[in-house]
Amino acid sequence: MKKITIAIDGYSSCGKSTMAKDLAREVGYIYIDSGAMYRAVTLYCLQNGLFTEAGIDAASLEAAMPQVRISFQLNPETQRPMTFLNGENVEDLIRTMEVSNHVSPVAALPFVREAMVKLQQDMGKEKGIVMDGRDIGTAVFPDAELKIFVTASAEIRAQRRYDELKAKGQEASFEEILTNVKERDYIDQNRAVSPLRQAEDALLLDNSNLTIEEQKQWLAERFKEAVKE
Ligand code: C5P
Repeated sequence: MKKITIAIDGYSSCGKSTMAKDLAREVGYIYIDSGAMYRAVTLYCLQNGLFTEAGIDAASLEAAMPQVRISFQLNPETQRPMTFLNGENVEDLIRTMEVSNHVSPVAALPFVREAMVKLQQDMGKEKGIVMDGRDIGTAVFPDAELKIFVTASAEIRAQRRYDELKAKGQEASFEEILTNVKERDYIDQNRAVSPLRQAEDALLLDNSNLTIEEQKQWLAERFKEAVKE
């Protein structure tokens, strides 16, 4: 069967990574969470004092970019990828509200995007990859054979993120999460470089009222159609 490239884009916290991970595991593809890469750069900034009162110190970050090395390793127990920043496993550290609250301005910096997109394109050279993010179908892999654009209401997305953080035992406030979801939507859609938008040839999936099982089935069917063509 031919190997294809699958791009899954959409709003924050709409379950893209769950569906992308499950599909990758089922069809034996590599899964890459591009948001984790922007989160890792943001963690680097937080750990190195690159956020000032005035916002992100872009000049210092640009100078430091060659020292920001991001990679992934499969967790042998869960078979899920873990994100590494300069050799350290940061998978849990990048999922905190602190990182969520700082990531969108970092991801809007053109030199950050340029570096991440290059890494992502290298990872996808051999196809057989599922990548999720905001600009995968539009900028990273514009020729992807299967493109999905996922959306759900902001309230439903905030509730899902709230449940996820609570399940991990992290402190969370629904209102704070809802504000964060809306703010990230706004910045992601309005930035100058690669704003979040649905690629013309992407299939739209509103999963507000779908169970994970129904969503899985929908995606499995789209995959079958895409590899047949
Ligand atoms: O997907 P996730 O919510 O973890 O992504 C974190 C942030 O990284 C997003 O809010 C967005 O600002 C940025 N991002 C991006 N381009 C991508 C993936 C994520 O700008 N391809």
